[in-house]
Amino acid sequence: MNLILLGPPGSGKGTQAESITRTLGIPQVSTGDIIRSAIRNQTPLGVEFKRFTNAGALVPDDLVNQLVRERLTEPDCLSGFMLDGYPRTVAQADWLDRMLALEGRRVDSVILFDVADEVIVTRITGRRTDPVTGHIYHLTFDPPPAEVIGRLVHRPDDTEEVLVKRLAEYHAKTAPLIPYYEDRGVLVRVDGVGGLADVQQRAFRALGLAVTA
Ligand code: AMP
Repeated sequence: MNLILLGPPGSGKGTQAESITRTLGIPQVSTGDIIRSAIRNQTPLGVEFKRFTNAGALVPDDLVNQLVRERLTEPDCLSGFMLDGYPRTVAQADWLDRMLALEGRRVDSVILFDVADEVIVTRITGRRTDPVTGHIYHLTFDPPPAEVIGRLVHRPDDTEEVLVKRLAEYHAKTAPLIPYYEDRGVLVRVDGVGGLADVQQRAFRALGLAVTA
């Protein structure tokens, strides 16, 4: 199954992707993670990416498209993948459709996590990532165990100031993907407000997967 997770920053895409990909046995492809890794490793592209991510702006389409092409042609993605944070513009979605069609593949389902902007600000500013496991905690809603607290990372673009810009980018450039995928009959909406387990159950039901938790 080829899936896309859509929703504003902090809508739970990365968190929910963990359980869905584990259940389906498909890799999670997060463009945000690929971009952060290039920035950490200070590759030439990483240096360029940093200017955009630190400003809460999207990285130019052609750069992200190349990253996605490289990743989706790796063997583990050939029998299914879950894209998290991509596409983020109609131009990226068009490009993805064409690239997949050339290989006889297509997008099967797009899950939209619906969350209002007010909820997102609270979620994002308390978000911390474990660099060892990749797990995303929330200081209030999903408190980390004492033994990992010292190594948790607060993303530099998870401040309120940068978040306002990221949300503006989402509404201007990414939200048009909602009618785009609705018209293609592949969009499913999931109410993203509530506890992790509740949202997970809704996402599993939307995909027709057995609810285990
Ligand atoms: P994320 O972790 O998905 O919130 O992504 C973090 C940052 O990486 C975004 O704010 C953008 O600057 C950049 N980014 C990630 N995915 C994309 C994409 N599909 N198109 C453009 N920029 C992206």
